[in-house]
Amino acid sequence: MAADILECRLSSLQYDYIEKIRNINEKKSEILGRPVYCLTHTYGCQQNENDTEKINGMLEMMGFVFTEDRSMADFILFNTCAVREHAEQKVFGNVGALVPYKRKNPELRIALCGCMFQQPHIAEKVASYQYIDLIFGTHAMIRFPENMYRLLSEGERICDISQSESVPLEDMPVRRENKLKAWVTVMAGCNNFCSYCVVPHVRGREHSRSPEKVVAEVKHLVAEGYKDITLLGQNVNSYCRDLALDYDFSDLLREVDALPGDFRIRFMTSHPKDATKKLFDTVASCQKVCKHIHLPFQSGSDRILELMNRKYTAAQYLELIAYGRKKIPDVSFTSDVIVGFPTETEEDFQATLDLIESVGFNGLFTFQYSPRKNTPAAVMEGQISKEIKAERFERLLALQNQSALRFHSRFVGKTLRVLVESVQENQVYTGRTDNNIIVNFTSEKNVINTFVPVKIKTAKNWALFGEIV
Ligand code: SAH
Ligand code: SF4
Repeated sequence: MAADILECRLSSLQYDYIEKIRNINEKKSEILGRPVYCLTHTYGCQQNENDTEKINGMLEMMGFVFTEDRSMADFILFNTCAVREHAEQKVFGNVGALVPYKRKNPELRIALCGCMFQQPHIAEKVASYQYIDLIFGTHAMIRFPENMYRLLSEGERICDISQSESVPLEDMPVRRENKLKAWVTVMAGCNNFCSYCVVPHVRGREHSRSPEKVVAEVKHLVAEGYKDITLLGQNVNSYCRDLALDYDFSDLLREVDALPGDFRIRFMTSHPKDATKKLFDTVASCQKVCKHIHLPFQSGSDRILELMNRKYTAAQYLELIAYGRKKIPDVSFTSDVIVGFPTETEEDFQATLDLIESVGFNGLFTFQYSPRKNTPAAVMEGQISKEIKAERFERLLALQNQSALRFHSRFVGKTLRVLVESVQENQVYTGRTDNNIIVNFTSEKNVINTFVPVKIKTAKNWALFGEIV
C-alpha cells in the first residue's frame, strides 16, 4: 500500500504575516523615501540555493527590494551549510564582518538560517551573538513570515530551531536569480548515514514529493522559458521509496522527458549503491535528459568505503561506469571524492588515484576530510594530519587535471550542441554541452540562452574552445 505523502505549504496565517510585513515596509519606505532593501547569501549545495530562492520569494512578497550592497541593506540573511568545517568557518567569518554595518545602522536586521542551525551546539553559540536578530533551521522555513513579523514589529530576537522532520515544501513563492537554469527539489532529507556526513542529522529522513507535483513544476518552468532544469535530492535513486509507490526516479525522468519543449534535464545526486541499470538505460533512451551522471565515489579503497558506510566496492563502482559508457555514447561522469578519511594509508589513497585514472571524470569535487560533530568518523582513531591531507589533495588535483584533459580531447574536431549561459565583454560566450562540458566560443550575434552548434578546436582540462557553426 502506498504511504502518505508528507508535504508542507505556507498556511493562510503565514500569508497574513507576509501582508502585514508588506504594510510595515510600505510605511518604512515612505518615511525613508527609498525602498526597503534586503540581501541574501547562500553557502553550500544546490539544495540550499533552492531553499534561498523560496526565502527570496517570500521576501519579495513582503515588499523588500533586493540589493547586493551590504551598506544599503535593511535586512541581511545568510543561508548556511554544515557539510564541511571550512564552510562553517566561512559563515562565522562573514557574519563577524557584518558587525560594523550593524554599528553604522542599528536598524539593520540580521538573520541566519539553514543546516548549521540544526546543530544545537552551533545554534547555542550563535544565539549569544547579540547582533544576530533571527536564527532558524531548515525545518522552520515555513514559519519565516511569522518570525519576521515578530522581529520587525516587536523587535524580538528569535531562535526557531525545532528538530522536526524536513518535509518537502509545496506551492512556495520562488524568486529565481537565473532565467535559464532552475532547480526542482524532488525529495528532502537522507537515510544513508555515511559515517563522515552531517546531512542526515541536519536534514532528517527522506521524503519524496509526489511525481504529479514534480512534473507539474517542471511543466510550469518550461512554459516560463527555463531551458536547463535540475532535479535535486541527496540520493535521487531512492526517489519514491519512502512512499512505497510502484514508481522510481527513472519513471520520473521518462515523464519529464516526454514534456513538450526545447529544454534539458539534469539530476543530482546519484548514490552508486542505488544506481540501477534501469537508470542508465533511461538516460540513454531519453532525448532531453543530459548525458551526464554525477556519481560520487568518495574513495577508491574498499576498506575506506566500508568505514564510510557507502555500501559498494570500487569494482562495483567501475562496473556501473562501464555499463553507463556502453549504453550512453559520450556520457560524462563527475564525482565527489574525500581525501584523508581517518586511517587512510598511502595505499588506500593510491586506490583512489587509480580509480580516477581508470574512469576519466569530466570534473571532480574534491574535499579534504573534516570531522563533523556527532558523526562516527569524527571519533575514529587514526585521524590524518592536515599536512598529509593537503599533500594528497594536491596530487589528486594534478591527476584529475590530466584525466579531464584526456576526456575533453576526445571532442576536438566534433560539433557539439551548446546551451549558452553567459557572455563576457569581448563577445566570448560560455555554455555547456549536454554531457556537461564547458565550451567557450566567440559570436557576433547575441546567442545567450539559446542552443547553438559549436565546432570544437581545442581542449583544456577545464573547458573546450571552438567556433560557432
Ligand atoms: N548526497 C550527496 C552528497 C552531499 S554532501 C552524495 O551522497 O553524494 C556533498 C559532498 O561533500 C559529499 O559527497 C562528500 O564528498 C563531501 N563531504 C560530506 N561530508 C564531508 C566531510 N565531513 N568532510 C569532507 N567532505 C565531506
Ligand atoms: Fe551525506 Fe551520504 Fe546522505 Fe550523501 S548519501 S547526504 S554523503 S549521508
